[in-house]
Amino acid sequence: NQDSFLIGLIGAGIGPSLSPPLHEREADELGLRYLYRRWDLDVLGRPDIGELLDAARLAGYDGLNITHPGKQRVIKHLDELAPDAAALGAVNTVVLADGRAVGHNTDGSGFARSFARGLPGARLDHVVLLGAGGAGAAVAHALLSLGVGTLRVLDVDARRSDALAGALRTRFGADRAEAGDADAAARALAAADGFVHATPTGMAAHPGLPVPVEALRPELWVADVVYRPLNTELVTAARARGCRVLDGGGMAVFQAADAFELFTGVAPDAERMLRHFAEL
Ligand code: NAD
Repeated sequence: NQDSFLIGLIGAGIGPSLSPPLHEREADELGLRYLYRRWDLDVLGRPDIGELLDAARLAGYDGLNITHPGKQRVIKHLDELAPDAAALGAVNTVVLADGRAVGHNTDGSGFARSFARGLPGARLDHVVLLGAGGAGAAVAHALLSLGVGTLRVLDVDARRSDALAGALRTRFGADRAEAGDADAAARALAAADGFVHATPTGMAAHPGLPVPVEALRPELWVADVVYRPLNTELVTAARARGCRVLDGGGMAVFQAADAFELFTGVAPDAERMLRHFAEL
């Protein structure tokens, strides 16, 4: 059995990423030798992602996590895509083994595990998703896979919400997804069981609430994907209004846990990783 692993993270501006300590500390706990190195595109002078993949293979890397802006660009350099990555057209995890590079996407599976853990029994008939970018696409796929009846997708950029809703209808059925106007979020929430937020609103650089506070009825469950900070204005406001709330930390941890297992073949202790994450 292999007991040492070399993993890289490729993305731009990843200096503050919590992935290295999260992966390495869990590996330490499991008695694995595991190095998780940052390959920051901003530091490396923005090389082509195909060159980086070749370099990782030559250097004997076992796997890579891929983040913005590489999740789509990496695909044409891979030998194979797992079904979730193929459906999403985005890869956040590349396993390098036996001379092959196989792309996976653990953002969706990470959200699904976080959701099952944090909001068990939540009603799933009508759900509103705000934000149709990379995180929104992964979360939408997970929500419909979890059994959401109808997902209403909203984005300030109507081309994005239209495109995502269309792709979801093709994948899951004509009545499962519809695009809506981001300005009408409050109206959409009035008839919804749950609300998932997947825009950058709530991060330090984009402060504020993504929807009017009055739209947060106590019967509505609310999931934020923003995890820096964990207690976004949305999370805090929704809790104060009495909603069941899921913060973005679980998705971040479970996508890492799923990637860790793909890299090593060893199932990490996700609850322990959640505790580590809270300390970071
Ligand atoms: P992205 O740029 O791909 O997508 C963001 C989308 O939000 C865009 O389509 C944009 O048009 C839309 N948008 C922006 N402001 C809006 C507004 N006010 N109203 C409606 N739509 C708006 O970004 P992303 O990669 O999807 O990331 C979004 C957020 O999710 C970031 O905060 C990121 O840190 C977070 N994220 C969390 C996890 C996790 O594991 N918890 C994983 C990935 C991303």
